[in-house]
Amino acid sequence: MSVVGERLQPTVFELSRPGRGGDKIPHPPAGALDRIPAAARRATPAALPELAEPDVVRHYVNLSHLNYAVDTGFYPLGSCTMKWNPKLNEWAARLPGFAGLHPMAPDAASQGTLQLLWELEGLLAEISGMQAVTLQPAAGAHGELTGLLMIRAYHRSRGDLARTDVLVPDSSHGTNPATATMAGFKTITIPSAPDGGVDVDAFRAALGPTTAGIMITNPSTLGLFERRIGELLDATHAAGALAYMDGANLNAILGRFRPGAAGFDVMHFNVHKTFSTPHGGGGPGAGPVGVGERLVPFLPSPRVVKEDDGSFRLERDGERSGSIGRVRSFFGSTGILVRAYAYIRAHGGSGLAEVTDDAVLAANYLKARLSGTYVVPFERACKHEFVASAADIKARTGVRTLDIAKRLIDRGYHPPTIYFPLTVEEGMLIEPTETESLETLDAFADVLIEIAREAETDPEIIKTAPHTAPVRRLDEATAARQPNLRWRGMTGAQTPCPD
Ligand SMILES: *Cc1c(COP(=O)(O)O)cnc(C)c1O
Repeated sequence: MSVVGERLQPTVFELSRPGRGGDKIPHPPAGALDRIPAAARRATPAALPELAEPDVVRHYVNLSHLNYAVDTGFYPLGSCTMKWNPKLNEWAARLPGFAGLHPMAPDAASQGTLQLLWELEGLLAEISGMQAVTLQPAAGAHGELTGLLMIRAYHRSRGDLARTDVLVPDSSHGTNPATATMAGFKTITIPSAPDGGVDVDAFRAALGPTTAGIMITNPSTLGLFERRIGELLDATHAAGALAYMDGANLNAILGRFRPGAAGFDVMHFNVHKTFSTPHGGGGPGAGPVGVGERLVPFLPSPRVVKEDDGSFRLERDGERSGSIGRVRSFFGSTGILVRAYAYIRAHGGSGLAEVTDDAVLAANYLKARLSGTYVVPFERACKHEFVASAADIKARTGVRTLDIAKRLIDRGYHPPTIYFPLTVEEGMLIEPTETESLETLDAFADVLIEIAREAETDPEIIKTAPHTAPVRRLDEATAARQPNLRWRGMTGAQTPCPD
């Protein structure tokens, strides 16, 4: 049976008919092609599909309708904060002064953008309790790398070269150990305690003169606030190490907990999570990094500087000798930063605290609604997300979390994050965010409860789901290890990408 349903259409190459493409776009002016060196010119014409304009437009618009998006439905993906992106942000990011600014424009012609970036740094510093912020990193993982490079520079500047280890809890996002390794550190994994928090005794035992830093996600990837955070931070500093906070879950603590004030030395913001701009499909994002006093000298350059006369400029080369240098071209992901700025200014301080309160309320409501049907491994109140497990359902019926996720697609929902964190068997990490209505939350809970009942009465229909999606169940292992992403319908010179 084909895994492809009838809603998937032929490719534009299959729809192509010779001569059908519009010849309406003027050819290059006479002699233009002659100016390209012969060696750089094509020997055979590009094998572009030939289609009439309406066929091209319909092809892509229909394809776009196969997408699931926050604009079309609820998106309960945990650990990602796929929150509603207000249309106001889009208006702001498209203002010609921002969208049309050339990246090489001189400071004098970039005052508006520089001012916005300077103000956004200040807003993020205030929100996080950090001393200063860089907006350069392109995403959270890149922010982690930037933060760890600053930690490395800090220890080196003190001549302390023995600090080679970074402690990371076992519930952390995979980017934490990956980044620590990339920055040249050795990762030491700290187990979780039964309450879902970091095992403080194991943590203390691992700390020592070779510890460069620790990375803690707070609230954790289980949606739980790290209750003994003060003890963890004190122990870290007493050992001469620095504390990194993975700020991906800032959505749960805005206006209620300031990591810098609590003693964290450095953190990243996933502005595409906390401050909107849903990032499905791999980006773009932005991962600003906030630092406490000790790391300010090492911030990437160039920073935006405000002059006494009120004008703004970028730091000049070599102006701050301790800097770890550039981590990203130009100003960073400016469009995403404009959206974050618009989001923060539209909400204001009390509005951001309300975001957090509503996100936490929505998660606890869903958790309570599902807890009779699914196992909720951590009973205490969650923050913005929670883990539910289908381990019991699997034991009784053979239906796994993966099957339930696929069945949700039949019911018109994007599945939550599944099998993450790895520490919970058959886990689903569910994050509703603050913008969803009670009706939406109830409808989603009803469907998850119905699917659990269906597992008892008709497990086959779940195990073979999805039945209505454009693409049916794929062999997950083959799809991950040997993905076939290329269409090979053309031969010879017609092949767009010859072997
Ligand atoms: C999303 C996420 C990251 C990585 O952030 P990206 O912006 O996707 O690079 C790191 N840690 C946690 C906890 C996350 O949820």
